[in-house]
Amino acid sequence: MSNSAASKVLSELREYDRELQLLKHGCAVLQWDQETYMPPAAAEERAEQLGVFETLVHDRIADDRLGELLELAGASPNNLLGSEDLPYRDRALIRLLFREHLKARRVPRDLVGRLARAASAGQTAWRAARAEDDFAAFKPQLEELVALAQERAECLGYEEHPYDALLDQYEPHMTTAEVSRVFHELEQRLVPLVSRIAEAPQLDDTFLYREFPEDIQETFGARVLREIGWPSNRGRLDISTHPFTIGLGRDDVRITTRYDRGFFNAAFFSMLHEAGHGLYELGFADEIRGSMLADGTSLGIHESQSRFWENVVGRSRAFWKRYYPALQSAFPTALAEIDYEAFYRAINKVRPSLIRVEADEVTYSLHVILRFRLETALFGGDLASAELPDAWREESRRLLGVVPESDAEGVLQDVHWSMGGFGYFPTYALGNLFAAQFTEALEAELGPLAPLLERGEFAEILAWLRQRIHAHGSARTATELVSDITGRNLEGEPFMRYLHAKFGEIYALD
Ligand code: ZN
Repeated sequence: MSNSAASKVLSELREYDRELQLLKHGCAVLQWDQETYMPPAAAEERAEQLGVFETLVHDRIADDRLGELLELAGASPNNLLGSEDLPYRDRALIRLLFREHLKARRVPRDLVGRLARAASAGQTAWRAARAEDDFAAFKPQLEELVALAQERAECLGYEEHPYDALLDQYEPHMTTAEVSRVFHELEQRLVPLVSRIAEAPQLDDTFLYREFPEDIQETFGARVLREIGWPSNRGRLDISTHPFTIGLGRDDVRITTRYDRGFFNAAFFSMLHEAGHGLYELGFADEIRGSMLADGTSLGIHESQSRFWENVVGRSRAFWKRYYPALQSAFPTALAEIDYEAFYRAINKVRPSLIRVEADEVTYSLHVILRFRLETALFGGDLASAELPDAWREESRRLLGVVPESDAEGVLQDVHWSMGGFGYFPTYALGNLFAAQFTEALEAELGPLAPLLERGEFAEILAWLRQRIHAHGSARTATELVSDITGRNLEGEPFMRYLHAKFGEIYALD
């Protein structure tokens, strides 16, 4: 292809890219509004509006002309990046568009519609079944959702395991085998650590459940967000039932939280968590801003950024050495006689629980491993939907040492399966692992994190994250990023080193 022909192909591809990104941001505005300020009666038409937008996006991605352009640019299933003569940014865009194009072409529109309807019916059935603690009432919908996900996996194609195709929707380029290897290693080390902590003297965290007026929580949280680098001219903080982050444009990222007057942790740590996601979304390099490349490269990498700010920073001793005096004077009644050391320990209390969303840093990944085991068994043909409640109890006992007394607290506890969200869960634990790997690399370059946090040098930390992680958006895959930054593959060892150092000291284990 001549130079001028090549540049014509590229400019047409960039037009597709820009238009798709604008359409996606249009959808995002509708979604954000739906979760925050929309009056309840608007739900029905909003679903229709979103349906129209999503169909537009799907049709543009599946378009014949886009396929031709990608082929002209040298893309094929064996050469996702296209022609080697093209600049790096264009090759990354070609890889992204080509993968999206193949997926949109491989999954028939009829199946997309059936999946959407099953997810909608699934959520209604799940809510009722959970309220009644009646797994049998949800089982038919669950079986249909599993069958449809299986059908989708067959359409998408995979090399080893049907679950590869499901995982790839959320964690592109990652395989079931790789996650399985790392989770196995993690499980072997986490289960004994949880037992040792259970045998140690337990910590008091009852004062975290005193009265914390919402307006003061908001003022304190907003101050911390500002100081870690959250830019109020490019983002907003609002309230929603379930905290989330969403990008509405290249200079517009929204985060939400939820205040609980009777529990300090709920709002503050979710603010830090969502701000971590939001800072990632606001940190894409200028050269990819406005492109589909300006997006998180995988949910695991996204989660590494949120859990870095929430836990590695926000649950550290050094961070509270800086902020505890201000917190204590903001809540003089609740925290008057509580010293900083007691507070630091309380926010890090380890306690095996029944559900991930309430879990501490040590037990959190075990909840994810539990669900990963069940999902891979379901899609590998080793487990039937009907066997899930027993399998859940068994795995919960083995991994966490606790057994739910009801299915509502066990197999029915979470919304993901009812929406057909199979393959999503591993990304929650991958985030912890990536975060620990990145933190070690950051410390190797900037020196120990603790003095930086104590001195409030967040700008230096954020600049490092921007340059090494955020700037690339999805131009680098998760595996490429980890290898660029650490020189290694995904691994569990750095996370275990982090947990042993932190919780070994808190619980005086050695
Ligand atoms: Zn998150």
